[in-house]
Amino acid sequence: MLKGLSLVAGEWLGSDQSFQNEPVSGAPDSFARGTPDMVNRACEAAEEAFWTYGYSSVADRAAFLNEVADQIDARGADITAMGMKETGLPEARLEGERGRTVGQLRLFADHIKSGVPLDHRHDPALPDRAPMPRPDLQLFQRPIGPVAVFGASNFPLAFSSAGGDTAAALAAGCPVVVKGHPAHPGIADLIAQAFEAAIKATGVHPGVFSQVQDGGHILGETLVNHPLIRAVGFTGSLRAGRALFDIAAARPEPIPFFGELGSTNPMFVLPSALTNRGDDIAKGWAGSLTMGAGQFCTNPGIAVLLEGDEAQQFAAAIGTALDDIPAQTMLTQGIAKAFGAGSAQFAKSADVTTVVRSDNPDRGAAPQLFATTASNWLSQDALQEEVFGPLGILVVAKDLKEMHAVAQSLQGQLTCTLHLDDADADVARSLVPILERKAGRILANGFPTGVEVCDSMVHSGPYPASTNFGATSVGTIAIRRFLRPVCYQNMPTDLLPTVTTPADLQ
Ligand code: NAP
Repeated sequence: MLKGLSLVAGEWLGSDQSFQNEPVSGAPDSFARGTPDMVNRACEAAEEAFWTYGYSSVADRAAFLNEVADQIDARGADITAMGMKETGLPEARLEGERGRTVGQLRLFADHIKSGVPLDHRHDPALPDRAPMPRPDLQLFQRPIGPVAVFGASNFPLAFSSAGGDTAAALAAGCPVVVKGHPAHPGIADLIAQAFEAAIKATGVHPGVFSQVQDGGHILGETLVNHPLIRAVGFTGSLRAGRALFDIAAARPEPIPFFGELGSTNPMFVLPSALTNRGDDIAKGWAGSLTMGAGQFCTNPGIAVLLEGDEAQQFAAAIGTALDDIPAQTMLTQGIAKAFGAGSAQFAKSADVTTVVRSDNPDRGAAPQLFATTASNWLSQDALQEEVFGPLGILVVAKDLKEMHAVAQSLQGQLTCTLHLDDADADVARSLVPILERKAGRILANGFPTGVEVCDSMVHSGPYPASTNFGATSVGTIAIRRFLRPVCYQNMPTDLLPTVTTPADLQ
């Protein structure tokens, strides 16, 4: 049962204005619009909560994270039903994404109990050192304070109200204020109910989690501008991310803005792999490009290969594979409309050939594939931009030098992929140093959709993939975004933060 309200410091608040979700089918649900005043109250409550939550033991924080996960699972059937209604995503995908979301919360619970995120360092005093004695120096990572979180439309669970940013901030000891995403307010409502139940069950301060539902851009701007907010975790489009990043930077006291934005995730199909396995790679690409209607930030939108008969055969193979894939429902009418406009723009770009193109149904997207030469691609910046949906472009280089030029000209990416066989080793070796400077993750012989949540994952990249390439929004190291190193000099032991080891928790 939906509340239709914003959860602010433990209270469900309404307003005299409302908005509705846009269900794929069935009657829309109505929600009270959040207000700047609610944002203000949420931020003040988050700051108040910080004075207890920020100093709580890792065992208590882990218990809270695990309880949130349990409460989400307890509402699993309702969340999936609402997700299918609001987003058009299939049941299995939503169930899988919920598994990932609760898995992230539980992973962070285990991570903080391991003591690793505190990254404690100690340089003991050297009183007899000449010519100067050394004081006792200890470094601890401390939580930074209230964090603002913006989720994305395409991951209504794993990158939204209880998603990776929220999990990482709460694990670090930072209260969270979420700006509810307008594409899935019903899911956000149910997730907030799970938080309310977890807060009551564990007795943490209710200001630890607030969520203000859609009230237009003004809510997001108010939140990022709020003087009590210490950092922002954002997942979404380049346009919105850049607008909010600029606000964060223009504040009297600028704050870090961890924006995970779009990417076109280029793949380089190297000559021997193209000859030996071109058809298989083309089929795999078709699957990855159209998975979830292409609405993944890791969607591989570009394939770069060398000209020749094999390139033509590859184009024919991907064309055939895409012809068999039907149009799919998009997350929102707005995203479907933007896809229609973006693909029409590609189709009329100079010297771009259409390989696969069909009409997009209402709130839907059909696969679209284009091809062009590397020299033409290099001359048109617009061809490098993300079109959110199942759209790909084949970039055909006349030689390896041109393939390198394409790699060199890439904007920052979440991922870059090499398809290679043994005979491609030298070419691959020449590309890797370039791609390392472009992407947060480099794959060999795979497809970038599907991001493992684990210790080694990096989901980030140089701008515009991310606004902060030293960080990642997926994987346990994501917690470091919300911690700040503090050095304590000659501090009495009982005034130092506690370091928890697994042994302490047994
Ligand atoms: P979006 O339109 O950028 O929306 C994200 C959030 O920003 C919403 O809460 C939206 O709410 C707010 N917003 C939009 N424009 C704003 C503005 N001018 N000022 C202030 N706030 C604004 O993105 P989306 O459709 O949710 O997500 C799709 C994009 O996310 C794709 O580009 C995809 O590649 C990217 N993505 C990236 C990752 C990653 O990890 N790198 C993961 C998933 C998705 P309001 O409209 O209510 O203000």
